[in-house]
Amino acid sequence: RRLDSRSGLPAGLLGDIQTPISPEPLESLYDVTGELGRGKFAVVKRCVEKTTGKVFAAKFLRKRRRGRDCRAEVVHEMAVLELARNNPRVVNLHAAHETDHDLVLILEYAAGGEIFDLCVSEELLPEAQITRLIRQTLEGVHHLHQTNLVHLDLKPQNILLTNLSPPGDIKIVDFGLARRLGGSGELREIIGTPEYVAPEILNYEPITTATDLWSVGVIAYMLVTGESPFAGDDKQETYLNVSQVNVDYSRESFTRVSELSVDFIRKLLVKAPEDRPNAAECLSHPWLWNQQLYLSPDPVMPRPLRERSCGTKWSAQLDDRE
Ligand code: ADP
Ligand code: MG
Repeated sequence: RRLDSRSGLPAGLLGDIQTPISPEPLESLYDVTGELGRGKFAVVKRCVEKTTGKVFAAKFLRKRRRGRDCRAEVVHEMAVLELARNNPRVVNLHAAHETDHDLVLILEYAAGGEIFDLCVSEELLPEAQITRLIRQTLEGVHHLHQTNLVHLDLKPQNILLTNLSPPGDIKIVDFGLARRLGGSGELREIIGTPEYVAPEILNYEPITTATDLWSVGVIAYMLVTGESPFAGDDKQETYLNVSQVNVDYSRESFTRVSELSVDFIRKLLVKAPEDRPNAAECLSHPWLWNQQLYLSPDPVMPRPLRERSCGTKWSAQLDDRE
């Protein structure tokens, strides 16, 4: 493994944390209940703080993985969460504990679960809700990017909701692959889930903030159509679909939603990272602000959207239907 010459840490990893890591057993402070989710090296369980009755999510991260000490990776995940502490769209880190096997992150509980479930459910969300969730995701991503952080694993499983019904606000989780940009040298890695990663990752090309915006495009596609845009029958086919940007924008997939959603997604699912809009530019796309036009025929809008100066390069115009 490449080590950073100054910190001695694996390249790109942060080591500074403020949150104390308590050696006290979790069970003395929390009642640990059901499982909320799991990944390759982590289990997340619901827990209740005994003194306050408050519910949290405890993420148990294994320190040893494939026979290797990975404590530094877990500390890095904590450090990123701390850097994102004032980002309201990122789950808050409450405390940390350490056992022989695990580092346990006590996280703000997102009771509504993954937006993945909204993508695969029988009934898709109304477009006004989708645009609200995408707006919030972009706000979170914009905030991260301003801190020079890239998430690199944005997908519907890592965007949670504070409440399920009615849909609450989004909380971004899982900073295991997140990196800080702008250090020494450029960042190249092959990471993430093929279905959701950008072509530059598959091609081992430099990683930038634009990599996250590709993923926002994939998430928007999934919320709108209920389908994963690049998923093939196997990993090979998925890789090929991503690197060729083989996306189905047919009428069948996009029947229930506006042309503007297609325009938005098309601008993000672009092979060259430098040709993708950044998070702030995305936030001014007309799709994200046009819902009143569809919901209420009375002219509650102060002025037509097309007259709004948003100072960006969006070329999309609202079509003239009501
Ligand atoms: P991994 O790195 O293993 O993917 P995640 O941090 O993504 O771990 O957590 C795995 C799953 O656990 C998430 O997809 C989600 O379903 C659930 N989860 C994680 N954090 C929370 C939380 N703060 N509140 C509620 N559920 C959570
Ligand atoms: Mg995850």
